[in-house]
Amino acid sequence: MIPYGKQEIIQADIDAVVDVLHSDFLTQGPQVPAFEEALKKVTGAQYALAVNSATSALHIACLALELSEGDILWTTPITFVASANCGLYCGAKVDFVDIDPATYNLCPKALEQKLIVAKAQLALPKVLVAVHLCGQPCDMKAIHALSTEYGFKIIEDASHAIGGRYLDKPIGLCEYSDITVFSFHPVKIVTTAEGGAALTNDPQLADKMSLYRSHGITRDERLMENAPHGGWYYEQVDLGFNYRMTELQGALGVSQMQRLEQFVSARHRLASRYNEKLSNFPITLPYQLPNTYSGLHLYVIRLQLSLISKTHKEVFDELRAAGIGVNVHYIPVHLQPYYARMGFEAGDYPNAESYYSSAISLPMFHGMTDVQQDEVVSTLARILDSSL
Ligand SMILES: *Cc1c(COP(=O)(O)O)cnc(C)c1O
Repeated sequence: MIPYGKQEIIQADIDAVVDVLHSDFLTQGPQVPAFEEALKKVTGAQYALAVNSATSALHIACLALELSEGDILWTTPITFVASANCGLYCGAKVDFVDIDPATYNLCPKALEQKLIVAKAQLALPKVLVAVHLCGQPCDMKAIHALSTEYGFKIIEDASHAIGGRYLDKPIGLCEYSDITVFSFHPVKIVTTAEGGAALTNDPQLADKMSLYRSHGITRDERLMENAPHGGWYYEQVDLGFNYRMTELQGALGVSQMQRLEQFVSARHRLASRYNEKLSNFPITLPYQLPNTYSGLHLYVIRLQLSLISKTHKEVFDELRAAGIGVNVHYIPVHLQPYYARMGFEAGDYPNAESYYSSAISLPMFHGMTDVQQDEVVSTLARILDSSL
């Protein structure tokens, strides 16, 4: 099976992890701060906090923005469930904004319309999670302009987008957001096995996230309520969690970050090859927003079902049966049973649902060979041709 995504681990990555095993620190040592430095260097953000997953990063980001009961978080229905669940962790309500049919990202026009209605109902969101689906940046300028007008905070869920650029600035710079989150799960662009990070330029948000990452405990006198009792002293000033990243993961991250540009440009090379070879297929190819450079976590095609005599499911199943590890990103979050129980139902977000009815993620990963890619193309050709 040609997988849809796969990590690239080289000897240098293995050596970096083994070195940590031989060192004094398996956790809370120098590697995680070094990884955070690498993230700051690549993005230009002032603060980076590495944690054990993007899910944890989203949680502490929401807490730092003081999202709580009675508040509302909005995001896109076309994302991994974690982008929405972080609101529920904080006791907030979650609601969705439909996607733009071209970019598949949260649509700024739909956002504005929903904000107008919400304002009249005194039910404006406190936090918006903008997801850069497939690595394609959201229209952040438009979203940011609405945030100043309507007074909500912005978290960029850039789990797909490290190494990408928006208006020629790195994703993660947080120029148009309060906090940006990355994921380092093995299918993503850079991996630490499990792992995530939250980046910001706001020192207060950074302090808060650092507390929430580790039990609400601090050894930083600035953040203490009392004078230290002595050299042993720490204070728990809030209720936090253990969301720390290990040194093994930090070292893997440092090693992987050295190849970030290579990872993203390899994905771009594969995507251009797909674009070329698939141009005459009865499918819609990925659209790229002008002035953006995608991290290209995913290469999503959409079947033009009116030109094909097979269903979405049939094409998907036939690809899988032929050893092509296709996937679908994502099942609209509002249709998940847990969310449906809150009252969401089919028809709520027509663009998201229409996207879902025809989207297929083709295999694309660093280290995918041209031969493998050609096999994906010829298999798809066979499956679609036979039905034309
Ligand atoms: C992968 C992913 C997450 C969660 O990442 P973890 O590191 O696995 O917790 C969140 N949001 C999006 C958009 C993702 O793709």
